[in-house]
Amino acid sequence: MPRKSRPRFTVHKKKTPKKDPNGAPSEREWENMQPHSAFKGWTVIIPTVALVAPLTVLPAGTDPDVGRPFIHQFWVVKIRDIRSRQDSSGEDDVWIRVQWYYSPKDVADNTMVKRYIENDIEQEDINANWKDNHPEFYCRYDLECLSRTLSPKHRGTCLCGEPYNPDQDVMHFCPRPSCRKAYHRDCLAENNCVETSPRGREDRLLASSPDSDEPFPLASYQASPGKRKRGGGKGKEAVRSSPLDALPEELLRVARLPITKGVRAGGLVGNVRSVVTARRLVYAALENHGILPEDWEDQIVSKALKDTVLPETTDIPPLRCPGCQGAI
Ligand SMILES: [Zn+2]
Ligand SMILES: [Zn+2]
Repeated sequence: MPRKSRPRFTVHKKKTPKKDPNGAPSEREWENMQPHSAFKGWTVIIPTVALVAPLTVLPAGTDPDVGRPFIHQFWVVKIRDIRSRQDSSGEDDVWIRVQWYYSPKDVADNTMVKRYIENDIEQEDINANWKDNHPEFYCRYDLECLSRTLSPKHRGTCLCGEPYNPDQDVMHFCPRPSCRKAYHRDCLAENNCVETSPRGREDRLLASSPDSDEPFPLASYQASPGKRKRGGGKGKEAVRSSPLDALPEELLRVARLPITKGVRAGGLVGNVRSVVTARRLVYAALENHGILPEDWEDQIVSKALKDTVLPETTDIPPLRCPGCQGAI
């Protein structure tokens, strides 16, 4: 026979709701507060906050006028409810109830979210500066809550394994297929990944190919005896010319840049795609009698080259890749 369960006379202790440290109203208080469809004057940036509007919110303590926050520092929310109560001095004390967005899919209807893939050499530009006209959000990973997995899988960055923090770090990227990895400038310097001599560095950078683990054979396109530079001077000694000399200066300048990224080095995405494209254009032109596509300038343009004032290349330490030992 099943045992009879004893009657229970447990008296539940009355729970006193914990007070929110920021003074947020309790559920019960909220019910009695005055509802509104909008309110004005919350911040200078968003003068009117309306119900159900998408809104970007900065972490507490961040002043948007100081230190230029980046777009990824904002949370995106949808306003669900606006209510007010009177504070002790009789002033209106307005609170909003928000729905937090957690995934790019949630935010997709309201704002642009781009995917940022760290080792993608074709990565499109992302304008992560919210003060520009069209700031863009981006995501690096998807977090599957149930299976507690990140996709794509996080691969260690640099020698230190610390992830790339675009706001603080300056990264150098090696484009070679077997490397395709970014390293912190400081970590490279600390680990003595510095070229012994900067001589010929520009050509070593140019020869570091995104499509081959072997350096591009620039030497076979160097000046050959007997060729004279066009307009080589009247009566002066003939100057040996190289097919490289016939290419546009701007294209060569970009192709010879170290590939860098980080807010202080060309922005979140950096100059990866520009430099990789410029190198490919140079290689193709050398193999194809100097012929370049008409739109070569459009192909290499990027935010990093357009908007960023970068230090002179000569001020960048002559770093080398810890993997392939190439110039980066
Ligand atoms: Zn590092
Ligand atoms: Zn490398």
